[in-house]
Amino acid sequence: MVKAKIAVNGYGTIGKRVADAVQAQDDMEVIGVSKTKPNYEAAVAHQKGYDIYAPAENAGAFEKAGMPIAGTIEEMVEKAELVVDCTPGGVGEANKPMYEKAGVKAIWQGGESHPLAGFSFNAASNYEGALGRDLVRVVSCNTTGLCRVIFPIDRELGVKKVRVTLARRAVDPNDVKKGPINAIVPDPIKLPSHHGPDIKSVLPHINITTAAMKIPTTLMHLHTVNMEVNTDCTAEDIKKIFGSQSRIRFVGQGIGSTAEIIEFARDMGRPRNDMWENCIWPESITVHEKEFYFFQAIHQESIVVPENVDAIRAMMELESDGAKSIQKTNKALGF
Ligand code: NAD
Repeated sequence: MVKAKIAVNGYGTIGKRVADAVQAQDDMEVIGVSKTKPNYEAAVAHQKGYDIYAPAENAGAFEKAGMPIAGTIEEMVEKAELVVDCTPGGVGEANKPMYEKAGVKAIWQGGESHPLAGFSFNAASNYEGALGRDLVRVVSCNTTGLCRVIFPIDRELGVKKVRVTLARRAVDPNDVKKGPINAIVPDPIKLPSHHGPDIKSVLPHINITTAAMKIPTTLMHLHTVNMEVNTDCTAEDIKKIFGSQSRIRFVGQGIGSTAEIIEFARDMGRPRNDMWENCIWPESITVHEKEFYFFQAIHQESIVVPENVDAIRAMMELESDGAKSIQKTNKALGF
């Protein structure tokens, strides 16, 4: 099988995971990753055998560090059929002219705005809409986690409204420069938060508002989700709907916190303790008339990774059926 040629521009928290996930598939391959500096992440990329591309002015530094580059970022883009842009939020936008010049397809992440790509993606919700597209944005970790629960409930019961409070991890585990380390920060103070409108970039008809705060943890986000539906239902009905989704995992067996979820992922031997699924506590699912509540935890570093693989498959038209792509991605990753 001829594999789709994928470049990963920005080999950081998301980029390194996307590269490994692409490499695990049989219908796509990584032709290069980009790094700006020859740091420890670049060293691991080099050890893994990825071709590293970097800005021309930094080529000497990579050479000196024993990991000569394969070319410039522009050269990497030229060789690719599709670039997954995983540069920091707001940086990716500046790369659009480079992708257009090279005539490659591009995926951006949730840190960029919806209009940049004109299509915001979540595999369960709108895979088919991405078929053959040149530009796609994979929505953020929180938005992905919310789309995964709203879409199937809307399909089965009809969603009247959604209200969510998000307790967000302050920073990723490797980020030593930011906080807070001893505060709870309403973020933003002016409500609602941007997450509700972001859900609408995928599911425009959903009535949703959200409030978010930053809390001093690095492991995961925790959502308190409240949905009102159009159809009478029981907690068992909700569990059945969530249980039918391969990217939703029920947690229990003594798991009472995000810390234990991450330990569980470590114990399962997941790469980088990644938890690609939404983690829902089934015990928390409580129905009051046509309204229900639950808690879910979202591993911000990895939840969007399988979504990027599916977005590639749709854009490259490697599979026309979203459910089949999800299944293929999950299997190759080892869900
Ligand atoms: P990161 O800072 O961990 O990684 C970004 C990488 O891009 C770094 O390796 C950096 O050196 C490199 N880089 C910076 N400028 C570059 C340039 N001009 N050209 C090439 N490489 C460059 O960032 P991240 O957390 O992986 O975030 C990437 C994107 O994913 C953002 O849009 C972010 O909003 C989104 N996202 C992040 C998370 C998360 O929790 N970390 C979750 C979901 C989505």
